Amino acid sequence: MRIDGKREGLLIVLSGPSGCGKGTIVGEMLKRGDCAVSVSATTRDPRPGEVNDVNYHFLKKEQFTQLIAQDRLLEYAQYCDNYYGTLRDEVDALRAEGKHVILEIEVQGAMQIKERCPEAVLVYTLPPSVGELYRRLKKRGTETDEVIEKRIRRAGEELPLADRYDFILFNDVLEDAVADFSSIIRTAYMYPVYHKNQIGEMIEDAKTFHVPDHIEE
Ligand code: 5GP
Repeated sequence: MRIDGKREGLLIVLSGPSGCGKGTIVGEMLKRGDCAVSVSATTRDPRPGEVNDVNYHFLKKEQFTQLIAQDRLLEYAQYCDNYYGTLRDEVDALRAEGKHVILEIEVQGAMQIKERCPEAVLVYTLPPSVGELYRRLKKRGTETDEVIEKRIRRAGEELPLADRYDFILFNDVLEDAVADFSSIIRTAYMYPVYHKNQIGEMIEDAKTFHVPDHIEE
């Protein structure tokens, strides 16, 4: 789906252990102007400072179940006792505008996207070490030690799936991670699947092409 002949934007999945800095990287990518994030639905409670419909669409479990029943989620998963899901309409509208849509989601959801949207680019973010991951989570100060431990344990369980992704993005120095992410976008935009329309138009043009009488200078 395209609007005004614009090229459809990329669908980019960004996963990685909780606290490894995905949110900060995405914040930097949004400054480019051609990237957008899709606001997910979740059943978890807002953290201090989080705003409904900006950080997440915060929903009751029944509302979330209704979205599933209506097939309005591109993917969804349960993560540490809560549900999280991506709204299909939101993603489609942004991509049609030509925006590269970044889905900051965990691995189960990422694998659903890989299955349903073969053109998606899957990026897995890695922190320098588990110790550094703990320090970052502790510094964020939004989770109790018990939750931090649960999230780090979960990260260890997820890591074997990292090799199902297309790219690994190291987040040691933020500027380097942002530059690498930009390179990934640039490379992925060369995937043939993102140029089907242009290639199709050229095929049609080539069929009816005739050598012109004179060549314009
Ligand atoms: P948090 O509670 O820290 O905001 O998010 C917990 C985990 O859920 C993170 O790994 C985050 O990337 C993931 N997540 C956020 N939104 C979605 C979503 O729409 N779908 C899936 N599958 N995971 C999500």
